Amino acid sequence: MALLEVDQLQVHFPVKAGLFRRDHETVKAVDGVTFSLAAGETLGLVGESGCGKTTLGRAIMRLSDPTAGAIRLDGEDITRMTGNALRSRRRKFQMIFQDPFGSLNPRMTVEQIVGEALDIHPLAAGKAARQQRIAELLQAVGLDAAYARRYPHEFSGGQRQRIGIARALAVEPELIICDEPVSALDVSVQAQIINLLRDLQQQRGIAYLFIAHDLAVVEHISRRVMVMYLGKIVELAEAKSLIREPQHPYTQALISAVPEVDPDSKRQRIVLPGDVPSPIHPPSGCPFHPRCPVAVDRCRTEPPPLREIAPAHFAACHLAGNLQSQI
Ligand code: SF4
Repeated sequence: MALLEVDQLQVHFPVKAGLFRRDHETVKAVDGVTFSLAAGETLGLVGESGCGKTTLGRAIMRLSDPTAGAIRLDGEDITRMTGNALRSRRRKFQMIFQDPFGSLNPRMTVEQIVGEALDIHPLAAGKAARQQRIAELLQAVGLDAAYARRYPHEFSGGQRQRIGIARALAVEPELIICDEPVSALDVSVQAQIINLLRDLQQQRGIAYLFIAHDLAVVEHISRRVMVMYLGKIVELAEAKSLIREPQHPYTQALISAVPEVDPDSKRQRIVLPGDVPSPIHPPSGCPFHPRCPVAVDRCRTEPPPLREIAPAHFAACHLAGNLQSQI
């Protein structure tokens, strides 16, 4: 049984009525997403800003309410769970946020930040056990236990992200949703945080849903990768298969934008025309058709289903499997 199952999930937000807007319009931030995640696995999720990947992560965390579909954790449906029932299940799934500067309360010490989760669930009996547990958590993320009395502003960006990871680890979760955890960090620090996440996964068997806009970062840490466009998954495959043989023209464009070290590389950069369309009025048929360099008539009217093109390699494109790679 999968640790996490997401089934036809939709997250739609109503748009406020305005001069040119009708009051029944909605933003289709997540629009029919289905996938599963095994215990101890890392599944990457990539896409441009505004494609819905953070909304998907927040919906799985139950920080925003799904409009339709289902989220199951360890086989239990948590889609509409609230109150104490949801609070007790939160022990199993945690989130690391993009902004290591904004995600920590500046008025709380590291001890208070990391210890808060221990108090809520409660996981450490007595003051000495609590202090001991906080010291262990700080050491686990590569920080000195003596830092417990300090405040977030006394740390660098990388150290703050380590504090955020220690806070997530405090409740011994089975799943951590990593929402762009390294995007705000210097490149050298990014590698340290990714290596730390990988080590913690090996030691503790945690599963990650790793969200990022940078395909190179996602490929580095993930076993499988999903590509999202306008609220839908357009490709899902093993990381190697996705990078070597991308089946969807949008994935091909994303890969073509990854800088290469090899000066003899023949890879062609694909520049997509136009911007990502509005999720209030997504295009008919294939949502990618206004920007797709190989679109055919059928693409304008018929939505392509996510189908298996090769073993464990899925793509939502009418031409996938017969498409000459553009890169
Ligand atoms: Fe392009 Fe058509 Fe495939 Fe959509 S279905 S990605 S428009 S070729």
